Amino acid sequence: MSTSAGTAPSALAGGRLTIDLAALAANWRALAGRAAPARAGAVIKGDGYGIGDEAAARALAVAGCETFFVALPEEGFAVRKAVPQADIYVLDGLLPGSAAALAAARLRPILGSLAEIEEWAAFASGGDAASAIHVDTGMNRLGLTLDEARALAGRTDLLAAIRPALLVSHLAAADTPGHPLNARQLARFHEARALFPGMPASLANSAGIALGPDYHFDLVRPGVALYGAAPGETIAPLETVVTLETRILQVREVPPGDTVGYGAARTLSRPSRIAIAGTGYADGYHRQAGSHDGRPGAEGVLHGRRVPIAGRVSMDLTAFDVTDVPGAMRGDWIELFGPNMPIDEVAAHAGTIAYELLTGLGRRYARRYAGGA
Ligand SMILES: *Cc1c(COP(=O)(O)O)cnc(C)c1O
Repeated sequence: MSTSAGTAPSALAGGRLTIDLAALAANWRALAGRAAPARAGAVIKGDGYGIGDEAAARALAVAGCETFFVALPEEGFAVRKAVPQADIYVLDGLLPGSAAALAAARLRPILGSLAEIEEWAAFASGGDAASAIHVDTGMNRLGLTLDEARALAGRTDLLAAIRPALLVSHLAAADTPGHPLNARQLARFHEARALFPGMPASLANSAGIALGPDYHFDLVRPGVALYGAAPGETIAPLETVVTLETRILQVREVPPGDTVGYGAARTLSRPSRIAIAGTGYADGYHRQAGSHDGRPGAEGVLHGRRVPIAGRVSMDLTAFDVTDVPGAMRGDWIELFGPNMPIDEVAAHAGTIAYELLTGLGRRYARRYAGGA
């Protein structure tokens, strides 16, 4: 029997993902409330931070979201199917030769260079295809320099042709509230806004919302906080959206002095019960989350108790020390992250951030959506 990605019934899967769309909607409403009177959009790039972009878009639209941001055209096409009426912006801008395809799906490129602006102007002139202008205020990623923005502001012909509906910039250090770059970027964004009077403006991502009303402007662009993770220490985690569990395939008794897994990296110091579970780095459960004799790894939660990873994470399997959970048995599910195990904590053990765990979620899980509209 073959199963396509993400559809394996949980009886046949080594791990399962539960995605709570009601929590996603509640998180959007909480952030929108915090940003008001600015409006709140939603960022659903990276396949909706791993949860599925169409499902995310549909649930957020029902909650009241009218503006979506994706990274790439293909993501925009998927979201357009789910939300026919919404404004959809493409953060990566205008890929060479993509104007007609974007316009056909009414996607709005966030134009970040003069080359993109000229290409969109040549295509869109005289039509009704809207766009946005991206000004770089200090991140040095995408966007016009302030000098380029000044030059563009003098080109009324070009401006009329590209029909910009939004002025965008992006904060580089919003998750560190005391970082001096935040205030510098804010000042430069004010300069940019003065060049395009009356154009709605958008600066803040999730962490930017927490920097306060000065950073909200007309529209905020939360991503990761919608999905229940906490960027830096700025925003407390909202409701859990994604729960990842792995299934115990076998529980074994291992004597003290024996090692567990590849590289014999973990030596047991007591008579132990080791649960082997069916999820590994091929599923996006990072190898760096593992443990060795010099370092504890991430933990899971089984029957309400924390269980540490024993040794390295393998491709398809991870071992947990369940010695202190007497009832642990074959078929039980260990929570890898979710309501009882913060995803940010697991990410920290793996030397990464929740964004990477979410967007790297593998394709072999049984997926369940709860609370859908
Ligand atoms: C990813 C992204 C966001 C959302 O950021 P979060 O930290 O996930 O809230 C907003 N704006 C831009 C330009 C982005 O690339």
